[in-house]
Amino acid sequence: MEGVRYEAPETLQAAVALLAGAPAGTRVLAGGTDVIVQMETDLIEPPLLVDIKKIPELRQIVSESGGFRVGAAVPGMEIVSHAAFCRAWPGIVDGVKLIGSIQVKGRASMGGNLCNASPAADSVPALVAAGAIARVVGPNGVREVPVESIPVGPGKTSLARGEIVVSFFLPPRPAHSADAYQRFTPRTEMDIAVVGVGISLTLDNGGTCTAARVALGAVAPTVLLVKDAADALIGTRIDEAALERLAAAASAACRPIDDKRGTKDYRIKVAGVLAKRTALQALERARQN
Ligand SMILES: Cc1cc2nc3c(=O)[nH]c(=O)nc-3n(C[C@H](O)[C@H](O)[C@H](O)COP(=O)(O)OP(=O)(O)OC[C@H]3O[C@@H](n4cnc5c(N)ncnc54)[C@H](O)[C@@H]3O)c2cc1C
Repeated sequence: MEGVRYEAPETLQAAVALLAGAPAGTRVLAGGTDVIVQMETDLIEPPLLVDIKKIPELRQIVSESGGFRVGAAVPGMEIVSHAAFCRAWPGIVDGVKLIGSIQVKGRASMGGNLCNASPAADSVPALVAAGAIARVVGPNGVREVPVESIPVGPGKTSLARGEIVVSFFLPPRPAHSADAYQRFTPRTEMDIAVVGVGISLTLDNGGTCTAARVALGAVAPTVLLVKDAADALIGTRIDEAALERLAAAASAACRPIDDKRGTKDYRIKVAGVLAKRTALQALERARQN
């Protein structure tokens, strides 16, 4: 890490100005749980690190328009300790809870999880299922974009040079709404997803599903928002037939790789099984809301 310049601007404008004029290879630094590991293993050699943790907008969880705005650099432990947010978005919290250990979550942020662009990132499927909108600020101003538009391939994002994800907006929840995220890993601790499934849904007073979003992680180069899987739930009481259709649609959407954690066929099969389990968990939660 010799010769790395470190800056910690205290305003968004200062960060954007620094990044706009920064040398190639410059990295934003949030919790550093990916960046520092990548530097230590010589995967990257950034000439400049721009630490965004001193910028207030990036470090707050606030209520907004009946929903929440979560700063992109808020550490995971602050998210999982925020009682109102945990009640509204338990599935996002499921995802954040799975990121590493308590120590890792003391640093790791959802912005870093998204912008590291790992297909297996645990907070991303739940954010996508939630319909989260990312606020992106850069030299050309502010953009509000769906979270799923940011990762474009392993390690690659759609962010332009100098752009920062500032926050995520989570919309207000109608009654009988809930979300859930589950992942499958070969080990129980500190491993990355073979498959991750995020599902957000809303029921009417009679228990029929009126809205759903289903997102899959670790089964394609980027997170997948699977409309056919959501359509399998909408208009049903999420009975066994609907769950079977959900599983089939989830499996059909997968475009996984073979690796030491699982073969393609295995991931495709697990995606269907896990989609059913995640839907049942979201359903149970929605019935209680
Ligand atoms: C021991 C260990 C276990 C882990 N386990 C898991 C796990 O189970 N599941 C999982 O998903 N991940 C896991 N991770 C990976 C990592 O902790 C997460 O991806 C984490 O959320 C990254 O957040 P961060 O704030 O530390 O990001 P950083 O390391 O600071 O940044 C990551 C990347 O995003 C960019 N970036 C960060 N914030 C922004 C922003 N706001 N705008 C634009 N670009 C930005 C950085 O430049 C960098 O390229 C683990 C890591 C470790 C070390």
